[in-house]
Amino acid sequence: MKRIDIVVPCYNEEECICLLFERVEKVFSNIEGYKFRIVYVDDGSVDETLTKIKRLAEDIGEDTIKYISLSRNFGKEAAMFAGLQNADGDAVVLMDADLQHPPELIPYMLKVLEEGYDCCGARRKDRKGEPVIRSFFSTCFYRVINGLSKVDLSQNGSDYRMISPKVVRAMISLNERERFTKGIFSWVGFSTKWLEYENVERVAGTTKWSMAALLGYAVNGIIAFATAPLRGVVYLGMFITFISFIYAIYVFYNAIFHPGARSGYATITLLLLFLGGVIILLLGVIGEYLARIYIEVKQRPIYIEKETNIYAKGTNDK
Ligand code: UDP
Ligand code: MG
Repeated sequence: MKRIDIVVPCYNEEECICLLFERVEKVFSNIEGYKFRIVYVDDGSVDETLTKIKRLAEDIGEDTIKYISLSRNFGKEAAMFAGLQNADGDAVVLMDADLQHPPELIPYMLKVLEEGYDCCGARRKDRKGEPVIRSFFSTCFYRVINGLSKVDLSQNGSDYRMISPKVVRAMISLNERERFTKGIFSWVGFSTKWLEYENVERVAGTTKWSMAALLGYAVNGIIAFATAPLRGVVYLGMFITFISFIYAIYVFYNAIFHPGARSGYATITLLLLFLGGVIILLLGVIGEYLARIYIEVKQRPIYIEKETNIYAKGTNDK
């Protein structure tokens, strides 16, 4: 019998743990030849998430319910990495805990993998129910990252995917610290097919993403997959130098042919402010890349495990 591992990052999702299991179980009762295993990754939750997961593991069996609990909140990207490292099913699914990723898609995803695809992604039909401002910024983000980098991201594409073991291995071979899974999916390649689903509200709890967190996520994504901003810095520098050169010619011309005409302090002040602003901005861009290099060279682990039942009995009986 083949097995599908479902990796679920959880951060304060106490109400969702059991609901998710029930939905998944129902879906698998209609799939022949496959059993499932859920790998819950408790991303340093401060509510009863871990207790709920452990209780579920006791009730259902350590074979079906696996968990890894991280020593603190490392973020969804690190949690997904931890899950992928510990998933060894014949196919692996990445899914949110809040049931915004309908488990009912799994049989269709499975068909796609059986057709020979290595990855089946789920894409929201639209962004209905999402704040307008969030949709707007999200559209801008996808335009920018697709324009600046070689990766090609689908705007409504989610992290909800079913992938083959080959893709899992590829994804964990990229062990960068500031992870941006959407970009990594695109970077590793493999044949991908998209399925569409209707956007739904989360079943319980609240979103873990503030506007500031999303902005950080976007900047990380762009920096992880594009070096074009650095080239932009060079072009802008060249442009400003060129303009100053033209202006210098104009100043010399005036000095020679209109001696006595006084140039304004306003111009000088404006230019100083403008150039000062540009230089600070550009240093900032360089600094962002430098910060990433700093983080990478430290080679800290992507996550720290606190406890797990991954190695508990029954792990290897497929
Ligand atoms: N999540 C996580 N660590 C975090 C933040 C979120 O593991 O630091 C998980 C969260 O529990 C959920 C998934 O990532 O399973 C998506 O989070 P959420 O539903 O809050 O995001 P949204 O759907 O609003 O984009
Ligand atoms: Mg959600």
